[in-house]
Amino acid sequence: MSLAPFTTFKIGGPADLYVGVSNAEELIFAIKAARRNHVPFFLLGMGANILVGDKGFRGIVIHNQSTGFQIDPENGRLECESGVTVWPDLIEKLIESELSGLEHFAGIPSSVGGAVWQNLHFLSPAPKRERTVFLDEVFHSATILTPDNQVLTVDREYFQFGYDTSILHFSGDIVTSVIFQLEYKPREIMKEIVRSNLEWRKERHPPLSTEPSVGSIFKKIEGIGAGRLIDGCGMKGTREGGIEISHRHANIMINVGEGTARDVRTLIERAVKTVKAETGYELEPEIAFVGDFS
Ligand SMILES: Cc1cc2nc3c(=O)[nH]c(=O)nc-3n(C[C@H](O)[C@H](O)[C@H](O)COP(=O)(O)OP(=O)(O)OC[C@H]3O[C@@H](n4cnc5c(N)ncnc54)[C@H](O)[C@@H]3O)c2cc1C
Repeated sequence: MSLAPFTTFKIGGPADLYVGVSNAEELIFAIKAARRNHVPFFLLGMGANILVGDKGFRGIVIHNQSTGFQIDPENGRLECESGVTVWPDLIEKLIESELSGLEHFAGIPSSVGGAVWQNLHFLSPAPKRERTVFLDEVFHSATILTPDNQVLTVDREYFQFGYDTSILHFSGDIVTSVIFQLEYKPREIMKEIVRSNLEWRKERHPPLSTEPSVGSIFKKIEGIGAGRLIDGCGMKGTREGGIEISHRHANIMINVGEGTARDVRTLIERAVKTVKAETGYELEPEIAFVGDFS
């Protein structure tokens, strides 16, 4: 089964095996089965932060479609399985319950598991937008399946959250469910945050429905911005096969047709070399590379 339709870049070859799981128990069962049989596996969320190789994935892709969640308005808590979509599914329900904390992430494609992996973030509300708001600010605890198949409840400290990172980048843990601690906020204020964030995105980012991408390709460079460096080198609109550096945002590459993983990697290399030669800065990819790129 081709993995391209399961990624926002619409790129990627086939997986040897593909299984969708629809709740936390099935997720645990599938991961344990893969481990027991020594089959390499990859856990897929919304595929919004990965580039899958053109030759696909040798092993089993486990697609996390565990979407159960419960809101406890009295205690301001949200408990959800890790495959739930942050926007619109969770945010819309939380607006109804007047529980604030996740609405900043409206418009970003993400499962809860992917959001924890990367410590999802966006600018604080307009008009100031003076800081970055991170997912971990409202993260209370999570249930994980450890690499040795223990099911544990762990707190925020365990995750070692940082900018674009968490312990999930190297620990091998699988998040099966998360508890968020949220705060009361009037519905109308939350709706306004969502509206202005969606507008901000529409003005600055290529639309995902017609220009598939994975959002920012390179990690942030503090105080400068990877996009500004690439733009400064005149690379907006640069094309490699079916992949182009967006005219709207130089840190976003878009799939303009039959773009391949090879095209993306080649364009990444070109951008890294050009920026290094012209500015001295080293660009580093933010996305995860998954599967076979041979
Ligand atoms: C148009 C666009 C705009 C974006 N804007 C932003 C933005 O403003 N801010 C921002 O922070 N990001 C942004 N992103 C990046 C992306 O949306 C986030 O990184 C998102 O959290 C990815 O979630 P996902 O479910 O797609 O994860 P995937 O891409 O499916 O997976 C990413 C990694 O997480 C791992 N993973 C997934 N679920 C679990 C789990 N349950 N347990 C353990 N590991 C897991 C996967 O195995 C993989 O290694 C944007 C992306 C796009 C396409």
